[in-house]
Amino acid sequence: MSKTTAPEMVWKLSDFEIGRALGKGKFGNVYLAREVKSKYVVALKVMFKADLTKHKAVHQLKREIEIQSHLRHPNILRLFGYFYDDNRVYLILEYAKEGELYDKLRKMHAFDNQTAANYIYQIIDALECCHSRKVIHRDIKPENILIGANGDLKIADFGWCVHSPSSRETVCGTLDYLAPEMILRQPYNEKVDLWCLGVLTYEFLVGKPPFEHKDQLVTYKRIVNVDVQYPNEVNDLARSFINGVSLL
Ligand code: ATP
Ligand code: MG
Repeated sequence: MSKTTAPEMVWKLSDFEIGRALGKGKFGNVYLAREVKSKYVVALKVMFKADLTKHKAVHQLKREIEIQSHLRHPNILRLFGYFYDDNRVYLILEYAKEGELYDKLRKMHAFDNQTAANYIYQIIDALECCHSRKVIHRDIKPENILIGANGDLKIADFGWCVHSPSSRETVCGTLDYLAPEMILRQPYNEKVDLWCLGVLTYEFLVGKPPFEHKDQLVTYKRIVNVDVQYPNEVNDLARSFINGVSLL
């Protein structure tokens, strides 16, 4: 895949053999694919230009490409390159063989302390890489984390990420993972990702996020008041970690 680093080389659809569909995204589908010459297996995300334009997502996609293609870390999903034709835009992504962390968590209900700690360590390492490059992910949650062939986590979906300091104060992402400063539409910085880390740790250990409620207004209030209730199975060390990252 060294072609991507040489700007004069341009990818096209016929460079790839297309395999089975891996999943459905907001603006199109993701397929297993193989680069013909190198036989390198990738995930090809195919989006329709018309959908992107209709949902005013072009700017967001450009930012996603710009940021994700420059991040190199074992726990950040690689974006090798992109190309387009008349109707579609294609992203050439690292293939995450084991699929979504969200599915694994739902299947197992919750992770034991050891698994959760190992996973959280990987996310911290990836976030450190993002933050050192002044990138805030803003949308860390199990749906946006994939699992690679060797079980390593891969942060994906940089659609909401932004170069800090943030010039926009738009509220985005799922309410459950939103930091109080984002909910209150106050200025925020990379620490919102650490808030998500606390929420993620809780969801790993308990099986559901801490502020979850069928009434979004209740979730909103619980987040603003940092109203976290721990079930007995969450030990003191885990509690202090979760409380600690949210206060950093
Ligand atoms: P949404 O916002 O609903 O998550 P999206 O437009 O962000 O949609 P993706 O999440 O990127 O789309 O992709 C849709 C699905 O395809 C994912 O949920 C996942 O199951 C699968 N998928 C995406 N990228 C990869 C990949 N690199 N390796 C393996 N599977 C993938
Ligand atoms: Mg997604």
